[in-house]
Amino acid sequence: MRQDDSRPEGDADGPGKRASAVVVGGGLAGITSALALADAGLDVTLLEGRPRLGGLAFSFQRGDLTVDNGQHVYLRCCTAYRWFLDRVEGAHLAPLQERLDVPVLDADRHRLGRLRRTALPVPLHLAASLATYPHLSLAERANVGRAALALKGLDPADPALDSQDFGSWLAAHGQSKRAVEALWDLVGVATLNAVAGDASLGLAAMVFKTGLLSDPGAADIGWARVPLGDIHDGLARKALDSAGVRTELRTRVTSISRSKNGSWRVEVPGEAIEADTVVLAVAQAETHDLLPDGALDEPDRLLGIDTAPILNVHVVYDRKVLKKPFFAALGTPVQWVFDRTEASGLAAGQYLALSQSAAQDEIDAPVAALRERYLPELERLLPAAHGARVLDFFVTRERTATFAPTPGVGRLRPGARTNEAGLYLAGAWTATGWPATMESAVRSGITAARAALTALDRPHDHLFEEAA
Ligand SMILES: Cc1cc2nc3c(=O)[nH]c(=O)nc-3n(C[C@H](O)[C@H](O)[C@H](O)COP(=O)(O)OP(=O)(O)OC[C@H]3O[C@@H](n4cnc5c(N)ncnc54)[C@H](O)[C@@H]3O)c2cc1C
Repeated sequence: MRQDDSRPEGDADGPGKRASAVVVGGGLAGITSALALADAGLDVTLLEGRPRLGGLAFSFQRGDLTVDNGQHVYLRCCTAYRWFLDRVEGAHLAPLQERLDVPVLDADRHRLGRLRRTALPVPLHLAASLATYPHLSLAERANVGRAALALKGLDPADPALDSQDFGSWLAAHGQSKRAVEALWDLVGVATLNAVAGDASLGLAAMVFKTGLLSDPGAADIGWARVPLGDIHDGLARKALDSAGVRTELRTRVTSISRSKNGSWRVEVPGEAIEADTVVLAVAQAETHDLLPDGALDEPDRLLGIDTAPILNVHVVYDRKVLKKPFFAALGTPVQWVFDRTEASGLAAGQYLALSQSAAQDEIDAPVAALRERYLPELERLLPAAHGARVLDFFVTRERTATFAPTPGVGRLRPGARTNEAGLYLAGAWTATGWPATMESAVRSGITAARAALTALDRPHDHLFEEAA
């Protein structure tokens, strides 16, 4: 993983000059690319417009509370993100459950179900849990099993799947409205950021096959027990510094062009940086604005990749109202609830974060309306919240949290290579095959670095392999 010391400095460009790279964007994709290129011996500069690293997965202070902009989880099958956690020495701060175990609480029927796995091989690892899942009838459970087997036979990379929607496929495979709500959307909305009817069958098949039908432990859930910023900003910065990356924050790139000598010229206010390689690791709209003419055949396709919002509702109670670290909810607008007390540094009481995906209808709702809506719902779900005092209530709104995983999005997502030698794209929205996740971001960063190192004839054995 460390810098390749076997190659003499300056081998690409003559004595004394190391091959250089500029990475634009300090989200997970950009950080990953910068680390990978620096580890291969390149002279790397990372430019980030904001005052911190971490992009869409960050923390901020609210008085004494350290708040994540949105609850982030990953799964054991997110092997590239786990590689990233190891690379920044943060894996112990975001551990995985030993075994998948998701409490699912129905607000209307006051029943608790659990999605758990056993140690049995796939698909038996979920059979016992499904057989006793109280939120579905016996017939619905049997139908879910049949649909899961049919899903297993799909190839997520098949372009024909990308143009179909997951909801229609579920209906055609006998899934009731209740089964979609209590199972498929419960998982799918949180991972895809869209309800089944709005999601590409290809992406949904990818999520469910990889998470639930590949390896028994694939869907075990991991999440940061510290503020996200401790890992994505603090530890990432430390790793970048020790890899020798020059990191510039509050440095917004305004243009990328080819200079007369053939190298790339990256302009930021007050400076122009020359480099052999540029990795553009920003969102699709910013990529469109910064791409030099001709770099993609149809750059306007990038603008066809829509975005989707995620809302987080944050509630601080004066006492403990939830015993479990997290749960998912049914029969209520509440989706997933996480206990963030310890991670936030709250000394007394309890801090819950509600993660509300596919939040198109609520993303602009006033705080007062959201308060009126969610506090009674939490009381319905958590009896201990009755009579508890709410010490703080606030929301975080990420209007462009992810790319929208709509049918047809797959053909709009570009790969890492552009038409221009030395210019590469990264970002969770590029063609990784994954929905917009931390895993997708890290994979894209690795893929871009790998493409750049291949073009420079540099070894990249140090890089995480599966993303190839
Ligand atoms: C609320 C919320 C909840 C989420 N939950 C999950 C989850 O549970 N699990 C999961 O896996 N994923 C989740 N995601 C998605 C995940 O956070 C993203 O997919 C991932 O962080 C994207 O990383 P990225 O590097 O591709 O892009 P970004 O994070 O968008 O990084 C791009 C960076 O480029 C910078 N930039 C833009 N333009 C310029 C410029 N001109 N010059 C310099 N810098 C520039 C931006 O400031 C930004 O820092 C969630 C996202 C949100 C918002």
